[in-house]
Amino acid sequence: MNRNKGCIAELDYFIEKYGVSLNSEAIIKEDILRQGIAFEEVSHEENFSGKSYFIFSFNVDNDGDVINKKYPEEISVENGPYNLQRTIISVRINKTSPYIVKYEPEDGGYKLYLEDGYMGDVSFSPEKSYMLKKTESGKSVRDVAPTIEWGYLIYLAVFRMCQYFENHTECAFCDMNSNYLNQKKANKNYSAVKSVEDIINALSVIESSEDSSAGAYTLTGGSIIDEVKFKGDTEIDFYVRFLEAIEERFKGRWLSKVVVQAHTQKNLMRLKSAGAYIYHTNFEVWDKNLFEKICPGKSKFIGRDEWIKRIVDAVEVFGEYKVIPNFVGGVELSKPFGFESIDEAVNSTAEGLEFFMSQGVIPRYTTWCPEKTSKLGKLGNSSAPLEYYVKLLLKWHELHYKYNLPVPEGYGSAGPGKAEFSVSAFMDAFKVETL
Ligand code: SF4
Repeated sequence: MNRNKGCIAELDYFIEKYGVSLNSEAIIKEDILRQGIAFEEVSHEENFSGKSYFIFSFNVDNDGDVINKKYPEEISVENGPYNLQRTIISVRINKTSPYIVKYEPEDGGYKLYLEDGYMGDVSFSPEKSYMLKKTESGKSVRDVAPTIEWGYLIYLAVFRMCQYFENHTECAFCDMNSNYLNQKKANKNYSAVKSVEDIINALSVIESSEDSSAGAYTLTGGSIIDEVKFKGDTEIDFYVRFLEAIEERFKGRWLSKVVVQAHTQKNLMRLKSAGAYIYHTNFEVWDKNLFEKICPGKSKFIGRDEWIKRIVDAVEVFGEYKVIPNFVGGVELSKPFGFESIDEAVNSTAEGLEFFMSQGVIPRYTTWCPEKTSKLGKLGNSSAPLEYYVKLLLKWHELHYKYNLPVPEGYGSAGPGKAEFSVSAFMDAFKVETL
């Protein structure tokens, strides 16, 4: 097994320069997430949990040959020249990625290569027994209530389209509606709106499965701004119905997280009363100009200042550390509106992180996947550089430590070798001695 220069030299540079403050697992995970993975060969006979396309495609490439093939939802990588502890990584298909998974049965199974350099041994996300079962209405549990993060998180995207697209004001990094259309072509049972009955049914199957290791669920979906199309239901009416039914039937079984738009305290009280424990209302990108350009729907229907105010106000409803807005780390460097330099991008997002962290909010980030089916993808964007992610990780943890914040709830375990959160390395990057 050879190791080559180029990509590996870049990785080694960052590990050598920042390895004292940041573990290799976190640095390598960010590099894989940002660039995606190519698969040389995947046996369909194998027992692994395939990508469920639970909300977005999270693929750089979404051609027919990708969508119709079964790829793992996540992989774990361990051992190899960096002596990696088990590192769980969301699979983002990129046919031209320098990261390639190869099948080498004579050498123990799947292996990850960076170009032709061996990086570690690969396992695929395990297939849970409940994923193969059906609800009473005949829907697949994998479609209705897939689990991600190695089985830790039940992902309930109950409306798999977003009404911002209808006004051409969707977030520029988002491919939710095209993911829905692509999946509908490949799987006629893939539905845009799920029913409360199917959700309760699927959760009952998961609850009674011996191999379930779920600790939390996320209730989410696209933004609802046109109540007429939802029989007069507002966004809050719609999601509260699911929450009430789930909490009435399974109270205390899983930690609940709700991802919706930024709402007033009155609406948030309804979510809280219905059983929401963690409130996510994603901010995406901090810079004012970029927020308006990259999130035109959020700007138009709520507005940046109001969105910020509602995040801060939400702490009074849900409590300190239970409001967790997401940033899409890396879009600050996207063309045509983004910053020119990595440091400007990191400094801008750090300003937002600090603003929220100083007020009992714990913002987190996911690593931007430049799907070709999103607006930014169509403009030819590719991923942000590794240097950006290394600096963002360092800054996030520096600020988290400065404000003496806890490990956020609802994200599973923290630290190298333990983290299950698969779409950025912020949970892997916790230092073992601080946990
Ligand atoms: S709010 Fe933005 S990111 Fe969320 S689903 Fe709608 S367009 Fe996508």
